[in-house]
Amino acid sequence: MNDIFIQEIRMPYKVRAMIMLDRENDDYVIYVNDYLSEEARLRAIEHEREHIGKGHLYSELSLVEIERSMK
Ligand SMILES: [Zn+2]
Repeated sequence: MNDIFIQEIRMPYKVRAMIMLDRENDDYVIYVNDYLSEEARLRAIEHEREHIGKGHLYSELSLVEIERSMK
């Protein structure tokens, strides 16, 4: 379905957000660290949405190359 769900959870401090693929339903879940300020959470969510939009979850590139392409 390609829906995107947002979940706020507590993660290690240095983790801003991460994406999980729900292969069963073809949806995405963005986990965002609830340590972050609201502004930082929104920025992190926007960043992860961009990864999804660019198909990075299916990319062959390394994480470093992917993050570099985001700038
Ligand atoms: Zn990123």
